[in-house]
Amino acid sequence: MPIVVQKYGGSSVADPDKIRNVAQRIVKSHAKGNQVVVVISAMGDTTDDLIELAHKINDRPDNREMDVLLSTGEIVSSALLTMALHKLGYQAISLNGPQAGILTDAAHSKAKILKIESDRIVKELNAGKIVIVAGFQGITQDADMTTLGRGGSDTTAVALAISLKAQVCEKLTDVDGIYTADPRICPEARKIKEIAYDEMLELTSSGNKVLHIRAVELAGHYNMPILVVSSFNDSPGTLIHGGDSMDSMEVHNKVRGIAHDIDVAKVTLTGIPNQPGVAAAIFEPLTKAGISVDTIVQNAFKDNITDLTFTVSRGDLKKANDVINSIAKNIKAKEVVTDAKLAKVSIVGIGMQNTPGYASKMFSALSKAGINIQLITTSEIRITCIIEETRVKEAVLALHRAFELEKD
Ligand code: ASP
Ligand code: MG
Repeated sequence: MPIVVQKYGGSSVADPDKIRNVAQRIVKSHAKGNQVVVVISAMGDTTDDLIELAHKINDRPDNREMDVLLSTGEIVSSALLTMALHKLGYQAISLNGPQAGILTDAAHSKAKILKIESDRIVKELNAGKIVIVAGFQGITQDADMTTLGRGGSDTTAVALAISLKAQVCEKLTDVDGIYTADPRICPEARKIKEIAYDEMLELTSSGNKVLHIRAVELAGHYNMPILVVSSFNDSPGTLIHGGDSMDSMEVHNKVRGIAHDIDVAKVTLTGIPNQPGVAAAIFEPLTKAGISVDTIVQNAFKDNITDLTFTVSRGDLKKANDVINSIAKNIKAKEVVTDAKLAKVSIVGIGMQNTPGYASKMFSALSKAGINIQLITTSEIRITCIIEETRVKEAVLALHRAFELEKD
C-alpha cells in the first residue's frame, strides 16, 4: 500500500472542532487505500504561550528544559487527534518523537535529525493503524528530548516521508498553496500549480512563510515531492518537486513568484581604510555573536577609503550594532549608521537563468513606482532589492504587473 505523510499546522488543530475536521481529512486519505502517517504541530499558539510561561518563571530558561517544555505542545495535539480518529471508529495511535524513532543531535532548541529508526511506525502501519506523530521533536543518544527549532514540524514530516519512502509529503495548512505573491498584499496573486525545489527554496529564504526552510532543503536533497493544500477545503494545491516534468514553456519563460520580507535591518560602516583583513575583522565577531548576516555590499573605494553595508534581521540589529561599535575604533571606521525599517522584495524563477533583461525590468518597474532601491543582491535564479519598508506593498504590486504574473 502506498504511504502518504500528511502534516497539519497549529492553526489547523487550534480547537476541538478543527481537530475533528482534521480527523475527517485523514480518514479521506486512508479511505483511498493509503497507509497514513500524520505529523502534527501544537494547537494554535501553544508554543508561544509555553515560551511566555517559561519566561515568567526564569528569564534565561535552560535550553534542555525548554525542549522538555515545548515538546509537550505537539504531544497534546497528537493524543487529541488520535482520540478524534478513535471516535470516528478508526484504529490510530499517537507516537511522540522518541517513540517514532527520531534521533537527533544534542543542539537543544535547534536540533538536527541524524536518523529515523522507523520500525515502530512501520509495525503500527502494518497493523492497520493510522499513525499520528508529534512534530518538531526527537531524542538524543543520551535520551534527552530535543526540538528542531520554530516551525520544525514541516521538517519532521519531510524526514519521515523520506525514511518511509512515502509517495508524497502533504502539507495541509491555512493557505491552499503557494502563490505568485502574498495574496494578502497582492490581490492579483495566482496560485502556482507546480514549482521546483530550488525556486521554493529561494522564495522561502526570501520571505515566503508557507514551509520551514529546512523541510524544503531536505525535500530537494532526497527528491521528496511536497504537496501544499488547504486543510479546510478541497481546492488543488501546489506541488513542489524536482522540476523535470514541468511544462517547459512555463519554466523557461517566467518569473515563478515574488517574495517579500519586512524583517530587514541594515548597518553601514563609513570611511573604512581599504586594506586586507578589514572584512574579517567585521564579520568574525558577528559570527561569534551568533548573528547571521544576509546581504553584504562594499562600495568601490576612493582615496583608499570605503563604505561597507550589511543586513541582518531586525531582532539582531541591537546586538549587531553593539558588536560593530566595539570594533569600529580598531578598524578606524568613521561612522556606524543603522536603519531598522527596511524590507526586501525578490523575484524568483529558474527561467531567469542565463536570460538577460530580468534585472533591468525589475529596476525599471520599481523606478516607475518611485521606489528607491538601496541594495541589490542576486543568485542564479533570484534578484532581490532592498527598499524602504513602507513601499513594500507597492513594490510587490508593481513587480507582479511588470512580469505579468496575473496571467496563467
Ligand atoms: N509548534 C512549533 C512552533 O510553533 C513547531 C511547529 O509548529 O512546526 O514553532
Ligand atoms: Mg506552531
